[in-house]
Amino acid sequence: MKKAEREHVNKVAELGCVACFVQSGEWFTPGEIHHIREGQGAAQRASWLEVLCLCPGHHRVDDRKARKIAIHGNTGRRSFVVAYGTERELLALTTENL
Ligand SMILES: [Zn+2]
Repeated sequence: MKKAEREHVNKVAELGCVACFVQSGEWFTPGEIHHIREGQGAAQRASWLEVLCLCPGHHRVDDRKARKIAIHGNTGRRSFVVAYGTERELLALTTENL
C-alpha cells in the first residue's frame, strides 16, 4: 500500500460507518474497511481508494436489535442496497465528508 492510500484509508476509518450515517445521521461509529466490488471482475482487486467504512453490524453480521443489515450478512446485499444505497453512492457520500 502506498503512503497516500494508507492516509486515505485512515481518514475513511476515522469518519466511521457510512451506513450508520445513512441510517441515523451520525458519523463516527467505529468500523472496518470494506472494498468496493461493484463493476469489478472477480479476479480484480478493488483500489485502496475505493473503500468504505462499515461497522460490524453493517459489514459482516446483521444486527437485528439495532436494525442493521450487513452487506455480507444473511439478509443479503440487495437488502443492504435498498436500505442504504449502492456501494458507489456510499463511496460518494464518504468522499464528500472526508
Ligand atoms: Zn454501521
